[in-house]
Amino acid sequence: MTSPEALQRIAALRAEVASHDERYYRKARPEVGDQEYDRLKRELGDLEKRYPGAAAAAGAETPTLRVGDDRSEGFQSYRHRQAMQSLDNTYSEAELREFHARLVRLLGREELSYVVEPKIDGLAVSLTFEKGALVRAVTRGNGVEGDDITANLLTLKSLPRKLKASALAPVPDMIEIRGEIFMTLAEFDRINAARDEEGEERYANPRNLAAGTVKLLDPREVAGRRLELVLYGVGACEPVHAGGDTQSGYHARLRAWGLPTVERTWTARGIDEAWAAIGELDRMRAGFAYATDGAVVKLDSLALQREAGSTSRAPRWAMAYKFAAERAETRLLAISVQVGRTGVLTPVAELEPVLLAGSTVSRATLHNRDEIARKDIRVGDFVYVEKAGEVIPAVVAVNTARRAPECVAFRFPTRCPSCGSAVVQVEGEVALRCPNYECPVQVRRRVQHFASKACVDIDGMGEAMVDVVVEKGWVRGVADLYRLKREDLLGLGKSVEKSSDNLLAAIEASKGKELWRFIHGLGIPHVGAAAAKDLAARFPSLEALSESKIENYIGKAKESLIPGIGKTMADAILSHFNQPINRTLVRDLARAGVAPAPPAAVAHGTGPFLGKTFVLTGTLPSMTREAAAARIEAAGGKVSSSVSKKTSYVLAGSDAGSKLDKALALGVPVIGEEDLLSLLKG
Ligand code: NAD
Repeated sequence: MTSPEALQRIAALRAEVASHDERYYRKARPEVGDQEYDRLKRELGDLEKRYPGAAAAAGAETPTLRVGDDRSEGFQSYRHRQAMQSLDNTYSEAELREFHARLVRLLGREELSYVVEPKIDGLAVSLTFEKGALVRAVTRGNGVEGDDITANLLTLKSLPRKLKASALAPVPDMIEIRGEIFMTLAEFDRINAARDEEGEERYANPRNLAAGTVKLLDPREVAGRRLELVLYGVGACEPVHAGGDTQSGYHARLRAWGLPTVERTWTARGIDEAWAAIGELDRMRAGFAYATDGAVVKLDSLALQREAGSTSRAPRWAMAYKFAAERAETRLLAISVQVGRTGVLTPVAELEPVLLAGSTVSRATLHNRDEIARKDIRVGDFVYVEKAGEVIPAVVAVNTARRAPECVAFRFPTRCPSCGSAVVQVEGEVALRCPNYECPVQVRRRVQHFASKACVDIDGMGEAMVDVVVEKGWVRGVADLYRLKREDLLGLGKSVEKSSDNLLAAIEASKGKELWRFIHGLGIPHVGAAAAKDLAARFPSLEALSESKIENYIGKAKESLIPGIGKTMADAILSHFNQPINRTLVRDLARAGVAPAPPAAVAHGTGPFLGKTFVLTGTLPSMTREAAAARIEAAGGKVSSSVSKKTSYVLAGSDAGSKLDKALALGVPVIGEEDLLSLLKG
């Protein structure tokens, strides 16, 4: 490779890795598997080392030297007292042994003891305890500062608010305890089963769902999904040696403080024992309740850890050995291109069925046109399919040695496979789209979404029925559902009289369903059921929502004015209604007689808490916070997650946190459970 070629490849790889980082850390929606990501980053790191001149010419900013950034809008940033780092990783035994050899050279001693821990596939968190009380939970962020997710983490049942003191583990004045938030496989399956019921898209894997969940703006929603936590690391602490002398001893302290720790660790003398422990972990991890993607090998002595120090990105005293994803080779029979609700064209690999990680795989995602071109995937090729922690298998590479000469490069359609419109690429997007709003597949998917259980829930208007009414040309948009004629339906065949009448009755009844169902049904990007409920609580009608302005969402100090709705979502809503066709739909629905019911409490307009906003903190004596929130809402009140001057009351229980301090500082009335009950009695 010449230097200009290296420069070009380095620049391309940096852009690609940075875009995967953005999707993984901030959006929790990666497009490629971890192993593939690691391969790209490895290639970039190697090139930067081999061609330092080209690397410098490509600019100083490189993802190989920094920690991926998870910070997102809507959260306060908080600076860690001691930076949170990433880990160097490898998939090879030889490199793991090289890590040991490096430490032997660096520390000048042959005998080194390690602790081997499972590497839990979740996301890092730092908990600060002051005088034994939990004061803050912060994400890794960019390593230096992260998002304050305390309110969300307080919904975790396994997280004690206070450290237990004991002779073994005296409580330090201050300590940053590091660990991992994750979701068990069982909880992940439970949530996906509920999504199936609701006709909503499944979540791809537990790690991304956990990462997405801790970044929800409403702690009540977080409480509805069960997250778990394990702790394994120490950041800053006072006194300095409060963590003990060894990593293995630190685990014992964590347990003595009453904190959740990893279920199994190994202490190993030398790298051979560490390697044997990794093998044992690999054999037993299928029985763990959560996903693990490797083993972390750490120097046991904390003094030696300090001596080894760290680079800007990762400690020198630890190494993650990652287990390779399961991989299979099979033939690519065809590439089909699917059109989604918003017109995005997604290529799907149709494969000769192959057994992979315990299930038979016959389809796999190919992501987009650029990915097919980059990997040069051709129909007829033998391809490698991988399935890591991820549920959706992906084609990761081609076995070019087995390529038949007749295999030619795949030509991505330039026309929509459904309606034949010329496809377009929106600036700044990788995806290609069919721009035709009336494209039959898009119409079908929009109508299916609108009528689904998760939205307006029209009984009898399932996928098959939607196909029929769209194909017949009776429904060309969502509002046409309300113009379906009995005589048309009767023409569908014998013995449809009763079902037609039932369907028409269900359609008629749907006109008065709750407002949030219609908002969700409009299919505004980023607006799911929870956000639709937040919007319905603020806007009295679809018309009001369609005429909303940025001032309705974001205040002068850039604060979010509607709980649960951040800037990204506000922008998506405004740009959705900027398109005349979407405003027309709102008018058409109104003309068709749709009159959504506003949220229950507002509809009655009589609750004693009408117009009052509550913030809840701490543990209440006899009811959960969720139950208290439900009672407040049933009485017409609103529950918000942050205290401001506009808050009417802060309802505080024991172990109340920073919200209580803020309420006292702002002079907001603070009440207890008893007071709430008497206020409810009026
Ligand atoms: P990492 O996940 O490889 O390792 C560091 C993290 O491991 C720590 O921050 C901690 O959260 C976690 N961890 C779990 N168990 C641990 C234990 N016992 N001890 C210490 N740490 C433990 O590093 P990272 O910087 O968080 O992320 C980089 C990795 O994330 C990549 O190697 C890749 O696998 C994945 N990633 C994937 C994509 C993608 O598009 N698929 C994009 C970015 C990152």
